[in-house]
Amino acid sequence: MLASIEALLGWDERTMLPPAAAEYRAEQVAGLSGLIHERRTAPEVGHWLEQLSSGDWAEQASEDERATVRELRRQYQRQVRLPQSLVEELARTSVQGQQVWVEARRTNDFARFRPLLERTLRLKREQAEALGYEECLYDALLEDYEPGARTSQVARILGALRDELRPLVAGLAESAGRPRKEILARSFPVAAQEAFSREAAAAIGFDFQRGRLDVTAHPFCTRLGPDDCRITTRYNERAFAEAFFGTLHESGHGIYEQGLRTDQFGLPPGSAASLGVHESQSRMWENLVGRSRGFWQYFYPAAQRHFPAALSDVSLDEFVFCINGVEPSLIRIEADEATYNLHIIIRFELEQELLNDTLRVGDLPAAWNAKYEANLGIRPADDAHGVLQDIHWSAGLFGYFATYSLGNLFAAQLFEAAERDLGKLEEQFAAGRFDPLREWLTERVYRRGHCLPASQLMESVIGRPISHQQLISHLRRKLGPLYGI
Ligand code: ZN
Repeated sequence: MLASIEALLGWDERTMLPPAAAEYRAEQVAGLSGLIHERRTAPEVGHWLEQLSSGDWAEQASEDERATVRELRRQYQRQVRLPQSLVEELARTSVQGQQVWVEARRTNDFARFRPLLERTLRLKREQAEALGYEECLYDALLEDYEPGARTSQVARILGALRDELRPLVAGLAESAGRPRKEILARSFPVAAQEAFSREAAAAIGFDFQRGRLDVTAHPFCTRLGPDDCRITTRYNERAFAEAFFGTLHESGHGIYEQGLRTDQFGLPPGSAASLGVHESQSRMWENLVGRSRGFWQYFYPAAQRHFPAALSDVSLDEFVFCINGVEPSLIRIEADEATYNLHIIIRFELEQELLNDTLRVGDLPAAWNAKYEANLGIRPADDAHGVLQDIHWSAGLFGYFATYSLGNLFAAQLFEAAERDLGKLEEQFAAGRFDPLREWLTERVYRRGHCLPASQLMESVIGRPISHQQLISHLRRKLGPLYGI
C-alpha cells in the first residue's frame, strides 16, 4: 500500500503538480521511500522469509504463497547486500547526474557530464560487486530489470539480431520505394487526436473504468491500485504518429497491468514478470497490432472522419506505408520499428565496455559515433544528438536498455505463438476483434504474474527458446511488400 501511495505521488508530479510545489513533493517522496526501504529490509522480515522457506509451512502452502516467499526472499537478499551508505550515495549521484546531464545536453558539452559519469560507473561497479554475479559484473545489474537473464545469453541473441538487421535496413535504404513522410506532419487537430486515441485504446482493451489517460511531457504508465491504472501521452498537431502510437504503446503497458490479478496486488503473483515482458506488451499493441494493415483496415475510415483535411486524399495503402517507413536516424526515441533495435544494441555493447573499464569515459563519444557509423551508416554531428541523448546512464540505469530489445523479441515470438492457436490475427483486427489476442495473453502471461523468472515464463508460453528469428521474419514479411523487395 505504501508503494502504491508513492506511485500516486509520482503520477501527480508528472501530470498535475504546479511548479512551485516540486520542492515539498521531493520531501514527501524521500520520506515515504525511506519508510518503504526500512520496512522492506527490516531484520525481522528476513527472519520471517527464512522461516517460511524451510520446514513444514512450505509443504502446505499454496502455489501463490510459495511463489511470493521465493520472490520476496530473492529481492530481500539483494537489498540487504547493499550497504546503506552505498544506497544513499547511488541515490544522490543519480539526482545530481540527471541535473548535470540536462545542462550538458542543452549546452552540447560532454566534458561537463564526464566526471559524474565516471563517479556513477565507480558506484555501479561497487554495487555489482556487493550484489554478486555468476559470470560478469553486468549480470548483477541486469538482474534488477530482467531477473534470471544472463549477459552472455542476451549478447548472443542481440548479436544475431544485429547481424540480420544491418543488411535488412541497408536493403530498404537502397530500394526505390519511399513513403510520403510529409503526410504524418500535416495538421492533425489535437482535440481530434485525443478522441481518436481514446477510441483506439478502448477498442484494443484498455479499460477506462479502471484507468485514465492524461497528458504529460514524457509519457509513462503506472498503477496506483488494483483497479487504477494511469497512462499518459503528449499531443503535437504536426506529428500524428507521436501521440497515436505513443498512446497505443502506453495502452499496451496498461492492458498488461489491468490484466494482472487484483487479489494479489502488490505481491509477486499479481506483479509484472520483468521490464522486458512489460515492454513486449507495449510493443505488441503498438507495433504488431497497431502498425498492421489489418488494424488500419478497421480504423482507417474513422481516421479519415477525424482528420478529413489531412487524410481525405490519402489511400489506406499509402497511409500504412507511411506509418511503417524505415530510415536510419540519430535519435533512439524517434526510431522506427526496424532500426530501433540497432540503437539499443549500440548502448548495450557500450555500457558493458564502460562497466568493465575496457572503454574509458573520455573515449565514449568517439566510440559512440563509430558504432553509429558501423550500424546505421550515419554519424552524429554533435554529442547532444549522440551520446548525450538518453537520460538512463545519468540516472545510473545500467542494464536497462537491453530490456527494450528483449521486449521486441518476446512480442514477435508471442504473436507467432498466438497465431498458432488463434489463426490469422490480422483478419480478426480487420473485423475490429482484438479480444481473442488479449484474452490469450491474459490467460498465458498476465494472470501468471511474476511466479517464474521472465525467460522461463516466456519460453513456456512461446514453446521454444528466446530467439531473434521471429522478429526478423515479421519485419521482412511486413516491410518487403511495402518497399517492393
Ligand atoms: Zn514502454
